[in-house]
Amino acid sequence: MTIQISAAFDSGNIRVVGQEGDRVDLEIVRDHLSDFYQWFHFRVAGARGRTLTFRIVNCAGSAYPFGWPGYKARVSTDRIAWRMAPDTSYLDGVLTWTHRFDTELAWFAYFAPYSMERHDDLVARIALQPGVTHRELGQSLDGRAIDYLRMGEGPKQVWLYARQHPGESMAEWWMEGALEKLVDLSDPTARALREKATLHVVPNMNPDGSFRGHLRTNAAGVNLNREWHTPSLERSPEVLCVRDAMDETGVDFAMDVHGDEAIPANFLAGFEGIPGWTDALGEKFYEYARRLAAATPEFQIEKGYEKAAPGKANLSMSTNQLAERYGAVAMTLEMPFKDHDPNPDAEFGWSPERSKRLGQACLDTLAGFIDEV
Ligand code: ZN
Repeated sequence: MTIQISAAFDSGNIRVVGQEGDRVDLEIVRDHLSDFYQWFHFRVAGARGRTLTFRIVNCAGSAYPFGWPGYKARVSTDRIAWRMAPDTSYLDGVLTWTHRFDTELAWFAYFAPYSMERHDDLVARIALQPGVTHRELGQSLDGRAIDYLRMGEGPKQVWLYARQHPGESMAEWWMEGALEKLVDLSDPTARALREKATLHVVPNMNPDGSFRGHLRTNAAGVNLNREWHTPSLERSPEVLCVRDAMDETGVDFAMDVHGDEAIPANFLAGFEGIPGWTDALGEKFYEYARRLAAATPEFQIEKGYEKAAPGKANLSMSTNQLAERYGAVAMTLEMPFKDHDPNPDAEFGWSPERSKRLGQACLDTLAGFIDEV
């Protein structure tokens, strides 16, 4: 009996390179017009009763080879619950796991996917809530909407945006949690933030890459988080339309939501090294991070990226650009593909539910901090 493997769907990505008995050899496909790859998402049918071994054989050339050691593939039989494949291992550039098929169908992915259909449902649902304004800020190269949601009437300008890197699907789970909280008018955090701030939210900066099953780039193979100094209609209309909207409002506080392949923890990265750095502005960022760490066991400040040296910030990245351009307290949130090791979950690892709750915790901390930005 033959099995069927497919990735021809929203956010799918895999190529079958061989099958021998119960062993299936696979490759992750590069982002279109780019060398980046790490995101995978595929379906297997016709294997009920069998135990198959899956091997992704081109991991050594992926964007973040250090992401594979300690990582576990995600498996779902209902496309709702995504558990870790507990025997996932990585050796010599090959990621391997087995799955015993008790069901007709199973799906496998780098992380619980967040489809464009779900994105459309989220935008529709939030746009219907009282006091919410929706705008289509622009369109992607493939013609998809760049959706923007605004709520609140206060003077502080807060921008939250996610998924510049489309394979980092936890970023849009974070957005779902944050948006659900912001439209709950019985929630004290939502009420406080909407009184003191105007919240500008772009839940998905890169719909083309999301649909195409890319890791890191848009339809032209462009890494949107290297475009913020000179976004263009030809390469990065997604960034251009968002930055233009930011120029209209100004920015006091900004969070850019991502996932990190290698580090097994949640962390924030700031804007050290920008020409306009001041210790006073930097201290506001550090204080926010400390308060978030004090508020939840799902965040920490020990592990993270190295800080740029004075004057060495990369202004093509949004966090640096926004801090420099607007004097904003700007930051990049990174969530793990592995787990938040200080508070691990052996069954699910880092997950959609935890991403959503972290979004809500970030807002709670912001509500207590908004007077200081
Ligand atoms: Zn990223």
